Amino acid sequence: MNNKIGIVVDYQFASQHKPPYPHPAFFSYENPLRIASILNLLEEKKVFENKRIMKLIPRTINESIIRLAHSQYHIDTIKRLSNYGNGILGEEVFISKNTFEIAKKAIGGTIEAIEAVLEQRVNQAFALVRPPGHHALRETASGLCIFNNIATSLLYLREKRNYKKKIAIIDIDDHFGDGIAQYFYEDPSVLYFSVHEFDFVDGDIGFITELGTGQGKGSTINFPIPHDTTDQNFLEFFDILTPILYEFKPDLIIVAAGFDMYFADQIGNCSLTSNSYYNFSKRILEISKNICDGKLVFVLEGGYNLIGLPYCVYAVLKALLNEQYNQPIFERIDFGKYYKKIEIDKIQKILRKLLKNHWKSIK
Ligand SMILES: [Zn+2]
Repeated sequence: MNNKIGIVVDYQFASQHKPPYPHPAFFSYENPLRIASILNLLEEKKVFENKRIMKLIPRTINESIIRLAHSQYHIDTIKRLSNYGNGILGEEVFISKNTFEIAKKAIGGTIEAIEAVLEQRVNQAFALVRPPGHHALRETASGLCIFNNIATSLLYLREKRNYKKKIAIIDIDDHFGDGIAQYFYEDPSVLYFSVHEFDFVDGDIGFITELGTGQGKGSTINFPIPHDTTDQNFLEFFDILTPILYEFKPDLIIVAAGFDMYFADQIGNCSLTSNSYYNFSKRILEISKNICDGKLVFVLEGGYNLIGLPYCVYAVLKALLNEQYNQPIFERIDFGKYYKKIEIDKIQKILRKLLKNHWKSIK
């Protein structure tokens, strides 16, 4: 039987929580045009006319759900600045008059995508939400993120829905999801696997040696990759991820779907095309079908190139639909000279050494 795909769609994500334009001291690539450009392409490609695609509406949630993951001080700060009409927190987080409501809706959208899959209304889902969440920490907004959409949703499942089964989070955003990692660092029931661009010269966050702690040791896995990684070897992290997923046997797989490893992204420095996201999605879908009845949810994180980002999302949907994907002509660039086989081999070797005491499937 053909699978059904849910897509969380809300046009407020495409029009609200705007950076304070014009503002000489502040510019943000994280803005409503990201969702607007995605929805524009999906409509142009007639995705919503496909009978296997179902639009999902973000759940209305109350503040007690945000409190599962964030301190009252952080929530009140966002609310206060939203009521005031604008504000900037740290270097990268802006607040506009609708920010609190939109950030709350991003959590509601993520919860709806996950529950639609768990309740079998759809087989897979994609939450097209913003602001992104994977850097947001319990006490503060960080790195363009206000609230941690994925962590809050999973804590909601645990606390309010009594869902205690194992969950795997695969984070493919260009940046390490320090926020998500923080929540589940000691939790053996959540596997957090992050593949991210890493500065091997000056150091970075998301070290290969961070494995979690206490009972959770071994269930945080960082797969740092060099900048300029291309389609040619991006997916090599599956050599580690696949056996671990089969051994861990989660009941649900969540993808923190950032698309800022895209070659033309203004923030990330990798060189992927939308083909990598198509191939990634095909592989993770196949694994999910084998281990957890295909229960797979994508949640939008980063990705800022307004021409490329919509194609990356479209590529994921084509993979979930099990349809062929033809990348756009403007992506046909030869990235061969950036090929970094040796570095990725080295990372795998070190990681295998670190993980073999925690996972029987890793030698
Ligand atoms: Zn990112």
